[in-house]
Amino acid sequence: MSYRIKWRVDEATKRANLLAEIHDDRTTLDALPELIRLVVKSSIPEGGWTAENTSGRAGRKLQRDLIKLQRLVRAKAYKAYAPVLQKYMVGQVERVIAQALTAYRRIYGVRAPDSHNFPQSPHVLLWSQAIQEEIGEGSELVLATGPITESVGLRLYENIGIVFGKDPTPQQLGSLKVRVGETARQVTRINETTRNLLAAKVRLSVSRGETVFETAEWIRNNMPQIATNRVPTITRTEMGRVQDTAVKVAMRDSKVVSHITVMGCEAIERDGPHFQGFPTCNIRNVPIGYERELVFHPNHTGMIVASGYYHQDGRTPNLPLGGGPYSD
Ligand SMILES: [Zn+2]
Repeated sequence: MSYRIKWRVDEATKRANLLAEIHDDRTTLDALPELIRLVVKSSIPEGGWTAENTSGRAGRKLQRDLIKLQRLVRAKAYKAYAPVLQKYMVGQVERVIAQALTAYRRIYGVRAPDSHNFPQSPHVLLWSQAIQEEIGEGSELVLATGPITESVGLRLYENIGIVFGKDPTPQQLGSLKVRVGETARQVTRINETTRNLLAAKVRLSVSRGETVFETAEWIRNNMPQIATNRVPTITRTEMGRVQDTAVKVAMRDSKVVSHITVMGCEAIERDGPHFQGFPTCNIRNVPIGYERELVFHPNHTGMIVASGYYHQDGRTPNLPLGGGPYSD
């Protein structure tokens, strides 16, 4: 084997090993940037990406790399976020049940053989107090999921920077953290839904004349509907939100991307947010300066890609804004 061929084989093997390591489930988000750096190192053109050198095959590969990177981070983000959310949601329903039963026993004793005669309104009150006390505004949820959200945002931002050949400055990381923090706090809305769902279950159970203990049992048996069933959707929405934010800010800060395109949403909503008349689910060539106006409906699964790059001389390309196809 000639030296040159051996060198090529060695390089290909090294790249394959790195890619395997990147996709390994045990590779954490924090370990990704170093690996990605090694893989993309050689593919950035001299002088950086421009409209001139992204029009052909190199540009398509760059776009594929960005999609692959987002898919990868998305998968790792879901794996980190979903169990934390699930534990939290199951825990809060359990706490409501424990709290209601404790309050009941404090007033009526442990055995409560006559609980069938327990009047409806104190029964409902007892549960609604437990719900109010145990399912608060959600600040503990922000505490539990905040670090995951922040790390997903920062890592994705950093990795996209690497793909574009840019290293983030401390100021850029600081302002990204603020943007990501804004999205992380929106998760508290899910507690309102949980409170409403629980209150509805209680009303139904009480109206059927069930005892406090039967209501507790009914809630426990229906917990998957109350909590766990919502985990995938909430995870998709919350992780999608932080990813979209990180991608938009990373592309803006790259100073090479002039336009972005959204594609591939699997849950297109005609009535969702629009940008200049076009639904944001699938939209082409949004000037990067408008990234803050590009917002999405809950459960949106589209991917943001770069679709325009500044010219070598700094000019912004003239690209038409457009809508993508609907599929309903
Ligand atoms: Zn969508």
